[in-house]
Amino acid sequence: MLKANPDYLDLPGNYLFAEIERRVEKYCAEHPGRQLVRLGIGDVTRPLSPTLVSALHEAATAQGDPATFSGYGPYGGYNSLRSKIAEVQYHNRNVPMQPDEIHVGDGAKCDVGNILDIFSKNTVAAVCDPVYPVYVDTNVMAGRAGHIGEDGRWSDLIYFPCTEENGFLPVLPAPDAPVPDLIYLCFPNNPTGSMISGAELKKWVDYANAHGSIILYDAAYEAYITEDYPHSIYEIEGARTCAIEFCSFSKMAGFTGLRLGWTVFPHELVLDGVSLGKLWGRRQATKFNGASSMSQKAGEAVFSENGQREMRETIAYYQQNAKVILEVLTGLGIQASGGVNAPYIWLKTPENTSSWSFFDRLLEEANVVSTPGSGFGPCGEGYIRLTAFGSHENTQLAMDRIKKMF
Ligand code: PLP
Repeated sequence: MLKANPDYLDLPGNYLFAEIERRVEKYCAEHPGRQLVRLGIGDVTRPLSPTLVSALHEAATAQGDPATFSGYGPYGGYNSLRSKIAEVQYHNRNVPMQPDEIHVGDGAKCDVGNILDIFSKNTVAAVCDPVYPVYVDTNVMAGRAGHIGEDGRWSDLIYFPCTEENGFLPVLPAPDAPVPDLIYLCFPNNPTGSMISGAELKKWVDYANAHGSIILYDAAYEAYITEDYPHSIYEIEGARTCAIEFCSFSKMAGFTGLRLGWTVFPHELVLDGVSLGKLWGRRQATKFNGASSMSQKAGEAVFSENGQREMRETIAYYQQNAKVILEVLTGLGIQASGGVNAPYIWLKTPENTSSWSFFDRLLEEANVVSTPGSGFGPCGEGYIRLTAFGSHENTQLAMDRIKKMF
Protein backbone atom coordinates (compact mmCIF):
# COMPACT_ATOMS: atom_id res chain seq x y z
CA MET A 1 0.00 0.00 0.00
CA LEU A 2 1.28 3.46 -0.86
CA LYS A 3 2.40 5.44 2.16
CA ALA A 4 3.82 8.90 2.73
CA ASN A 5 7.51 9.07 3.56
CA PRO A 6 7.57 8.36 7.32
CA ASP A 7 10.72 10.45 7.75
CA TYR A 8 8.79 13.51 6.60
CA LEU A 9 5.97 12.69 9.00
CA ASP A 10 8.52 12.90 11.83
CA LEU A 11 9.12 16.60 11.15
CA PRO A 12 7.75 18.99 13.76
CA GLY A 13 4.45 20.50 12.60
CA ASN A 14 5.46 24.09 12.09
CA TYR A 15 8.56 25.39 10.47
CA LEU A 16 9.78 28.27 12.64
CA PHE A 17 8.95 31.05 10.21
CA ALA A 18 5.49 29.64 9.51
CA GLU A 19 4.69 29.89 13.23
CA ILE A 20 6.00 33.45 13.35
CA GLU A 21 3.84 34.34 10.36
CA ARG A 22 0.80 32.75 12.02
CA ARG A 23 1.25 34.88 15.15
CA VAL A 24 1.90 38.04 13.13
CA GLU A 25 -1.20 37.49 10.97
CA LYS A 26 -3.33 36.90 14.06
CA TYR A 27 -2.00 40.09 15.66
CA CYS A 28 -2.62 42.12 12.48
CA ALA A 29 -6.16 40.76 12.14
CA GLU A 30 -6.91 41.79 15.75
CA HIS A 31 -5.14 45.18 15.45
CA PRO A 32 -5.75 46.50 11.94
CA GLY A 33 -3.72 49.52 10.81
CA ARG A 34 -0.66 48.86 13.01
CA GLN A 35 2.61 49.42 11.16
CA LEU A 36 4.86 46.46 11.94
CA VAL A 37 8.63 46.55 11.58
CA ARG A 38 10.04 43.20 10.53
CA LEU A 39 13.41 42.40 12.00
CA GLY A 40 12.71 38.68 11.97
CA ILE A 41 13.21 36.66 8.81
CA GLY A 42 16.67 36.90 7.29
CA ASP A 43 15.83 38.35 3.90
CA VAL A 44 17.52 41.37 2.36
CA THR A 45 15.54 44.51 1.52
CA ARG A 46 17.93 46.65 -0.58
CA PRO A 47 17.40 46.44 -4.36
CA LEU A 48 19.97 44.90 -6.68
CA SER A 49 22.79 47.33 -7.41
CA PRO A 50 22.91 49.15 -10.81
CA THR A 51 25.77 47.04 -12.20
CA LEU A 52 23.81 43.85 -11.53
CA VAL A 53 20.63 45.27 -13.05
CA SER A 54 22.51 46.18 -16.27
CA ALA A 55 24.03 42.70 -16.39
CA LEU A 56 20.54 41.22 -16.12
CA HIS A 57 19.24 43.51 -18.89
CA GLU A 58 22.13 42.46 -21.10
CA ALA A 59 21.55 38.79 -20.33
CA ALA A 60 17.84 39.17 -21.15
CA THR A 61 18.63 40.86 -24.46
CA ALA A 62 21.06 38.05 -25.31
CA GLN A 63 18.36 35.47 -24.64
CA GLY A 64 16.10 37.20 -27.18
CA ASP A 65 18.64 37.11 -29.99
CA PRO A 66 19.15 33.88 -31.98
CA ALA A 67 22.87 34.65 -32.27
CA THR A 68 23.40 34.78 -28.52
CA PHE A 69 20.55 32.67 -27.10
CA SER A 70 21.72 29.93 -24.77
CA GLY A 71 19.77 27.00 -23.35
CA TYR A 72 21.02 24.48 -20.79
CA GLY A 73 24.43 25.36 -19.41
CA PRO A 74 27.02 23.19 -17.68
CA TYR A 75 25.58 21.50 -14.56
CA GLY A 76 28.26 23.02 -12.33
CA GLY A 77 28.02 26.54 -13.75
CA TYR A 78 29.73 28.51 -16.51
CA ASN A 79 33.51 28.45 -16.40
CA SER A 80 33.64 32.22 -16.63
CA LEU A 81 31.77 32.47 -13.30
CA ARG A 82 33.67 29.65 -11.61
CA SER A 83 36.99 31.28 -12.57
CA LYS A 84 35.84 34.65 -11.21
CA ILE A 85 34.78 33.06 -7.91
CA ALA A 86 38.15 31.28 -7.67
CA GLU A 87 40.00 34.52 -8.33
CA VAL A 88 38.10 36.98 -6.14
CA GLN A 89 36.90 34.80 -3.28
CA TYR A 90 39.95 32.56 -2.96
CA HIS A 91 43.11 33.59 -4.87
CA ASN A 92 42.83 37.18 -3.66
CA ARG A 93 42.96 35.78 -0.12
CA ASN A 94 45.94 33.58 -0.99
CA VAL A 95 43.80 30.45 -1.00
CA PRO A 96 44.59 28.07 -3.89
CA MET A 97 41.42 27.00 -5.70
CA GLN A 98 40.73 25.49 -9.11
CA PRO A 99 37.58 26.64 -10.92
CA ASP A 100 36.46 23.01 -11.29
CA GLU A 101 36.46 22.65 -7.50
CA ILE A 102 33.69 25.25 -7.42
CA HIS A 103 30.20 23.91 -8.17
CA VAL A 104 27.69 26.66 -8.91
CA GLY A 105 24.11 26.06 -7.84
CA ASP A 106 20.91 27.92 -7.10
CA GLY A 107 21.76 28.90 -3.54
CA ALA A 108 23.28 27.49 -0.39
CA LYS A 109 20.07 26.10 1.10
CA CYS A 110 19.54 23.50 -1.63
CA ASP A 111 23.17 22.37 -1.57
CA VAL A 112 23.34 22.23 2.23
CA GLY A 113 20.20 20.08 2.18
CA ASN A 114 21.05 17.93 -0.83
CA ILE A 115 24.60 17.17 0.30
CA LEU A 116 23.31 14.25 2.37
CA ASP A 117 22.58 12.39 -0.89
CA ILE A 118 26.26 11.62 -1.40
CA PHE A 119 26.85 10.11 2.06
CA SER A 120 25.78 6.71 3.31
CA LYS A 121 22.43 6.36 5.07
CA ASN A 122 23.92 5.62 8.51
CA THR A 123 25.92 8.86 8.58
CA VAL A 124 25.86 10.56 11.99
CA ALA A 125 25.70 14.34 11.90
CA ALA A 126 26.64 16.90 14.54
CA VAL A 127 25.12 20.36 14.74
CA CYS A 128 25.49 23.39 16.92
CA ASP A 129 22.65 24.33 19.24
CA PRO A 130 21.21 26.87 18.39
CA VAL A 131 21.41 26.10 14.68
CA TYR A 132 20.13 27.07 11.22
CA PRO A 133 17.14 24.65 11.20
CA VAL A 134 17.82 23.37 7.66
CA TYR A 135 20.75 21.20 8.84
CA VAL A 136 18.55 19.39 11.35
CA ASP A 137 15.40 19.11 9.25
CA THR A 138 17.21 17.71 6.22
CA ASN A 139 18.74 15.01 8.42
CA VAL A 140 15.24 14.23 9.71
CA MET A 141 13.92 14.04 6.13
CA ALA A 142 16.78 11.69 5.24
CA GLY A 143 15.87 9.40 8.15
CA ARG A 144 19.16 10.11 9.92
CA ALA A 145 18.02 11.95 13.04
CA GLY A 146 16.21 9.26 15.03
CA HIS A 147 13.40 10.49 17.30
CA ILE A 148 12.76 13.85 18.83
CA GLY A 149 12.92 13.96 22.62
CA GLU A 150 11.02 16.14 25.03
CA ASP A 151 14.02 18.45 25.16
CA GLY A 152 13.58 19.15 21.42
CA ARG A 153 16.70 17.21 20.46
CA TRP A 154 16.91 14.31 18.02
CA SER A 155 18.25 11.03 19.37
CA ASP A 156 20.68 10.28 16.52
CA LEU A 157 22.17 13.75 16.13
CA ILE A 158 25.12 15.02 18.13
CA TYR A 159 24.69 18.53 19.55
CA PHE A 160 27.29 21.14 20.41
CA PRO A 161 25.72 23.61 22.85
CA CYS A 162 26.71 27.19 21.98
CA THR A 163 26.00 29.30 25.02
CA GLU A 164 27.00 32.53 26.70
CA GLU A 165 29.57 30.53 28.72
CA ASN A 166 31.48 29.34 25.64
CA GLY A 167 31.02 32.59 23.68
CA PHE A 168 28.46 30.86 21.40
CA LEU A 169 31.21 28.65 19.94
CA PRO A 170 31.02 24.85 19.72
CA VAL A 171 33.42 22.87 21.88
CA LEU A 172 35.24 19.87 20.36
CA PRO A 173 33.85 16.45 21.37
CA ALA A 174 35.66 14.89 24.34
CA PRO A 175 38.13 12.09 23.43
CA ASP A 176 35.68 9.41 24.64
CA ALA A 177 32.58 11.01 23.01
CA PRO A 178 31.01 9.57 19.84
CA VAL A 179 32.69 10.81 16.67
CA PRO A 180 30.36 12.57 14.22
CA ASP A 181 30.73 11.72 10.53
CA LEU A 182 29.49 15.11 9.39
CA ILE A 183 30.07 18.31 11.34
CA TYR A 184 27.97 21.30 10.38
CA LEU A 185 29.69 24.60 11.16
CA CYS A 186 28.36 28.00 10.16
CA PHE A 187 30.47 31.16 10.48
CA PRO A 188 29.57 33.99 10.63
CA ASN A 189 26.89 32.23 12.59
CA ASN A 190 23.20 32.23 12.00
CA PRO A 191 21.53 32.79 14.46
CA THR A 192 24.02 34.01 17.10
CA GLY A 193 26.18 36.24 14.88
CA SER A 194 29.29 34.73 16.50
CA MET A 195 32.55 34.28 14.60
CA ILE A 196 35.31 31.68 14.89
CA SER A 197 39.04 32.52 14.91
CA GLY A 198 41.52 30.79 12.62
CA ALA A 199 43.13 29.09 15.64
CA GLU A 200 39.78 27.67 16.84
CA LEU A 201 38.78 26.56 13.36
CA LYS A 202 42.14 24.81 12.99
CA LYS A 203 41.20 22.62 15.99
CA TRP A 204 38.08 21.45 14.13
CA VAL A 205 40.04 20.80 10.94
CA ASP A 206 42.61 18.77 12.87
CA TYR A 207 39.84 16.85 14.66
CA ALA A 208 38.08 16.07 11.36
CA ASN A 209 41.29 14.91 9.68
CA ALA A 210 42.24 12.77 12.68
CA HIS A 211 38.80 11.11 12.92
CA GLY A 212 37.77 10.87 9.27
CA SER A 213 34.91 13.36 9.71
CA ILE A 214 33.84 15.88 7.11
CA ILE A 215 33.09 19.48 8.02
CA LEU A 216 30.18 21.05 6.18
CA TYR A 217 31.20 24.70 6.42
CA ASP A 218 28.43 27.20 5.73
CA ALA A 219 30.01 30.56 4.88
CA ALA A 220 26.82 32.20 3.57
CA TYR A 221 27.55 35.39 5.56
CA GLU A 222 31.30 35.61 4.91
CA ALA A 223 30.93 39.04 3.25
CA TYR A 224 29.85 40.52 6.60
CA ILE A 225 33.15 39.84 8.36
CA THR A 226 34.73 43.14 9.39
CA GLU A 227 37.42 41.87 11.76
CA ASP A 228 40.39 39.56 11.31
CA TYR A 229 38.66 36.19 10.93
CA PRO A 230 38.81 33.51 8.21
CA HIS A 231 36.41 34.10 5.31
CA SER A 232 36.84 30.57 4.04
CA ILE A 233 37.69 27.34 5.84
CA TYR A 234 40.35 26.72 3.18
CA GLU A 235 42.40 29.51 4.76
CA ILE A 236 43.08 26.86 7.42
CA GLU A 237 45.84 24.36 6.73
CA GLY A 238 44.48 20.84 6.29
CA ALA A 239 40.93 21.89 5.36
CA ARG A 240 41.22 20.63 1.79
CA THR A 241 41.12 17.02 2.97
CA CYS A 242 38.16 17.38 5.33
CA ALA A 243 35.84 20.25 4.39
CA ILE A 244 33.08 21.12 1.94
CA GLU A 245 32.26 24.84 1.88
CA PHE A 246 28.88 26.38 1.01
CA CYS A 247 28.64 29.98 -0.15
CA SER A 248 25.86 32.16 -1.42
CA PHE A 249 25.22 35.31 -3.41
CA SER A 250 22.05 35.86 -1.37
CA LYS A 251 23.24 38.01 1.49
CA MET A 252 26.48 38.97 -0.26
CA ALA A 253 24.80 40.66 -3.21
CA GLY A 254 21.02 40.52 -2.71
CA PHE A 255 20.31 37.35 -4.73
CA THR A 256 17.70 35.90 -2.34
CA GLY A 257 15.16 36.13 -5.16
CA LEU A 258 17.50 35.64 -8.13
CA ARG A 259 19.10 32.51 -6.57
CA LEU A 260 22.80 31.72 -6.91
CA GLY A 261 25.45 30.07 -4.76
CA TRP A 262 28.39 27.73 -4.93
CA THR A 263 29.76 24.73 -3.09
CA VAL A 264 33.44 23.82 -2.96
CA PHE A 265 34.76 20.26 -3.21
CA PRO A 266 38.57 20.30 -3.15
CA HIS A 267 40.13 17.61 -5.35
CA GLU A 268 41.77 16.06 -2.26
CA LEU A 269 38.37 15.26 -0.76
CA VAL A 270 38.06 11.54 -1.38
CA LEU A 271 35.95 8.89 0.36
CA ASP A 272 36.14 5.14 -0.40
CA GLY A 273 38.50 6.01 -3.24
CA VAL A 274 35.88 8.25 -4.86
CA SER A 275 36.22 12.01 -5.32
CA LEU A 276 33.34 13.68 -3.48
CA GLY A 277 33.35 16.45 -6.09
CA LYS A 278 32.78 13.83 -8.81
CA LEU A 279 30.00 12.22 -6.78
CA TRP A 280 28.35 15.60 -6.28
CA GLY A 281 28.73 16.33 -10.01
CA ARG A 282 26.99 13.03 -10.74
CA ARG A 283 24.17 13.89 -8.34
CA GLN A 284 23.72 17.34 -9.81
CA ALA A 285 23.77 16.06 -13.39
CA THR A 286 20.85 13.80 -12.50
CA LYS A 287 18.75 15.98 -10.24
CA PHE A 288 19.71 19.56 -11.21
CA ASN A 289 19.97 21.30 -14.55
CA GLY A 290 22.24 24.18 -13.61
CA ALA A 291 21.65 27.61 -12.11
CA SER A 292 19.81 30.09 -14.32
CA SER A 293 22.14 31.57 -16.92
CA MET A 294 20.74 35.04 -16.18
CA SER A 295 21.64 34.69 -12.49
CA GLN A 296 25.10 33.53 -13.44
CA LYS A 297 25.61 36.59 -15.64
CA ALA A 298 24.57 38.82 -12.75
CA GLY A 299 26.85 36.76 -10.50
CA GLU A 300 29.82 37.51 -12.75
CA ALA A 301 28.96 41.20 -12.56
CA VAL A 302 29.24 41.01 -8.75
CA PHE A 303 32.96 40.41 -9.25
CA SER A 304 33.50 43.42 -11.55
CA GLU A 305 35.09 46.51 -10.01
CA ASN A 306 31.78 48.36 -9.86
CA GLY A 307 29.95 45.26 -8.68
CA GLN A 308 32.35 44.84 -5.77
CA ARG A 309 32.12 48.52 -4.80
CA GLU A 310 28.33 48.49 -4.86
CA MET A 311 28.27 45.23 -2.93
CA ARG A 312 30.42 46.76 -0.20
CA GLU A 313 28.13 49.82 -0.06
CA THR A 314 25.03 47.69 0.44
CA ILE A 315 26.69 45.55 3.10
CA ALA A 316 27.89 48.72 4.87
CA TYR A 317 24.28 49.90 4.86
CA TYR A 318 23.15 46.78 6.72
CA GLN A 319 26.17 46.94 9.02
CA GLN A 320 25.12 50.45 10.02
CA ASN A 321 21.73 49.01 11.07
CA ALA A 322 23.48 46.36 13.13
CA LYS A 323 25.49 49.09 14.86
CA VAL A 324 22.34 51.07 15.70
CA ILE A 325 20.59 47.97 17.07
CA LEU A 326 23.59 47.00 19.20
CA GLU A 327 24.03 50.53 20.54
CA VAL A 328 20.39 50.88 21.55
CA LEU A 329 20.18 47.45 23.18
CA THR A 330 23.44 47.90 25.06
CA GLY A 331 22.28 51.36 26.16
CA LEU A 332 19.15 49.76 27.61
CA GLY A 333 21.28 47.30 29.54
CA ILE A 334 20.12 44.38 27.39
CA GLN A 335 22.79 41.79 26.72
CA ALA A 336 23.34 41.50 22.98
CA SER A 337 26.08 40.02 20.80
CA GLY A 338 26.79 39.43 17.11
CA GLY A 339 26.16 42.23 14.62
CA VAL A 340 29.85 43.04 14.07
CA ASN A 341 30.85 40.23 11.69
CA ALA A 342 27.31 39.13 10.90
CA PRO A 343 23.94 40.68 10.05
CA TYR A 344 22.37 39.03 13.12
CA ILE A 345 22.07 40.34 16.65
CA TRP A 346 21.50 37.78 19.38
CA LEU A 347 19.88 39.31 22.42
CA LYS A 348 19.21 37.81 25.79
CA THR A 349 15.62 38.33 26.85
CA PRO A 350 15.33 40.59 29.88
CA GLU A 351 14.35 38.99 33.19
CA ASN A 352 14.79 35.47 31.79
CA THR A 353 11.52 35.60 29.88
CA SER A 354 11.04 32.78 27.39
CA SER A 355 11.86 33.46 23.74
CA TRP A 356 8.24 33.23 22.58
CA SER A 357 6.99 35.44 25.47
CA PHE A 358 9.48 38.14 24.55
CA PHE A 359 8.64 37.69 20.86
CA ASP A 360 4.97 38.34 21.76
CA ARG A 361 5.93 41.34 23.90
CA LEU A 362 8.00 42.88 21.11
CA LEU A 363 5.12 42.27 18.71
CA GLU A 364 2.45 43.73 20.96
CA GLU A 365 4.29 46.58 22.67
CA ALA A 366 6.72 47.67 19.94
CA ASN A 367 5.05 46.17 16.86
CA VAL A 368 8.43 44.66 16.02
CA VAL A 369 8.69 41.18 14.50
CA SER A 370 11.69 39.23 15.76
CA THR A 371 12.73 35.57 15.69
CA PRO A 372 12.54 33.55 18.92
CA GLY A 373 15.88 31.95 19.73
CA SER A 374 14.20 28.74 20.90
CA GLY A 375 13.18 28.12 17.29
CA PHE A 376 16.85 27.43 16.54
CA GLY A 377 17.26 24.79 19.24
CA PRO A 378 16.93 24.32 23.00
CA CYS A 379 20.04 26.41 23.74
CA GLY A 380 18.38 29.33 21.95
CA GLU A 381 15.72 29.49 24.68
CA GLY A 382 15.86 32.87 26.41
CA TYR A 383 17.19 34.61 23.30
CA ILE A 384 15.80 36.58 20.36
CA ARG A 385 17.40 37.09 16.96
CA LEU A 386 17.13 40.48 15.28
CA THR A 387 18.37 41.11 11.76
CA ALA A 388 20.10 44.11 10.26
CA PHE A 389 18.40 43.66 6.89
CA GLY A 390 15.75 46.38 7.31
CA SER A 391 15.90 49.94 6.02
CA HIS A 392 17.65 52.59 8.16
CA GLU A 393 14.26 54.21 8.81
CA ASN A 394 12.54 51.01 9.94
CA THR A 395 15.49 49.92 12.05
CA GLN A 396 15.51 53.32 13.79
CA LEU A 397 11.73 53.18 14.23
CA ALA A 398 11.97 49.70 15.76
CA MET A 399 14.70 50.82 18.14
CA ASP A 400 12.77 53.96 19.18
CA ARG A 401 9.77 51.77 19.99
CA ILE A 402 11.89 49.24 21.90
CA LYS A 403 13.40 52.11 23.92
CA LYS A 404 9.88 53.12 24.95
CA MET A 405 9.21 49.60 26.25
CA PHE A 406 11.82 49.98 29.00
N1 PLP B 1 22.93 29.14 5.14
C1 PLP B 1 22.55 29.94 6.15
C2 PLP B 1 23.26 29.87 7.44
C3 PLP B 1 21.48 30.82 5.97
O1 PLP B 1 21.09 31.59 6.97
C4 PLP B 1 20.82 30.86 4.73
C5 PLP B 1 19.69 31.75 4.48
O2 PLP B 1 19.11 32.36 5.29
C6 PLP B 1 21.25 30.00 3.74
C7 PLP B 1 22.30 29.15 3.97
C8 PLP B 1 20.52 29.93 2.43
O3 PLP B 1 21.00 30.79 1.52
P1 PLP B 1 20.51 30.76 0.01
O4 PLP B 1 19.62 31.94 -0.17
O5 PLP B 1 21.77 30.85 -0.77
O6 PLP B 1 19.79 29.49 -0.25
